[in-house]
Amino acid sequence: MQTALAILLSLALGCPALIRSMNTSPSDLRATTTKVILLGTGTPYPDPAASGPATAVVVDGRVLLFDAGPGVMRRLRAANLPINGPEALFITHLHSDHTLGYADLILTSWVMRRRAPFPVYGPRGLQRMTKHLLSAYSADINIRESGLEHEVAGGYRVDVHEVRRGIVYEKDGVRVTAIAVQHGAWKDAFAYRIDTVDRSIVISGDTRPSEELVKAAQGVDILIHEVYSAARLGPEDRPGGKDWPRYCREYHTSDVELGALAVRIRPGLLILDHIIRMGASDEELLAGVRAGGYAGKVLIGRDLDSF
Ligand SMILES: [Zn+2]
Ligand SMILES: [Zn+2]
Repeated sequence: MQTALAILLSLALGCPALIRSMNTSPSDLRATTTKVILLGTGTPYPDPAASGPATAVVVDGRVLLFDAGPGVMRRLRAANLPINGPEALFITHLHSDHTLGYADLILTSWVMRRRAPFPVYGPRGLQRMTKHLLSAYSADINIRESGLEHEVAGGYRVDVHEVRRGIVYEKDGVRVTAIAVQHGAWKDAFAYRIDTVDRSIVISGDTRPSEELVKAAQGVDILIHEVYSAARLGPEDRPGGKDWPRYCREYHTSDVELGALAVRIRPGLLILDHIIRMGASDEELLAGVRAGGYAGKVLIGRDLDSF
């Protein structure tokens, strides 16, 4: 009887395969709510209103965090999310704007009484980065552990998983899949797809237009995608600045290109994130997306917006 009910409910929700594979009971189906909170929508430019890249997916109070740009701990607090460490962190790639908050996350969550090793997933090189960060802060760690602060012994530890494309995390009704994307010279860069019982979300990370992302994101509820303004793109007046347009084309996705991708992906909602504006207004960016052919729902992401 219970099995029959589960099948009926899963058919009604339109995702029977996912629900069956996650061993979800009918009571979970009723209860689960998944929320996306944009913690940081910025770029390397230190805009006080746009913290470094970081997005929280909150599933019934469980926090999965995607990227750790500068300011991430303060934005977690501002969003009233736990400050003693998310359930897991997923890094899209190792560019500094996406990882400058990583040491802050590791060390501050420990000082805020994290006890268990912090599970972190990301590209090759993450293990090395983590080791060097802990080594850089070894004096701090020693003093906090052995001195009058009496921090939790070993509570700073990190459990690093270097991943390849495919399912990288599956726990209690949450599945995270890494999508290999192309981001210029970076050998490993990932977008992530998150599936929960009630929602599907794709976070692009940094990427030029990606066919693998188009395939993996088909019909997703929310697509959060990086973008630059095509209309404003031109050489910059600085040494090496003539390569700026080529850099953008090889590393990033223009608003017009994103519009064309979204036509094929058909997301329930498209959110523009990590916007390289070059002076473009919201209206210009949205016009670019429309020029690409996309007529669906689209928003400009702002720090602490939630969906
Ligand atoms: Zn990047
Ligand atoms: Zn970036």
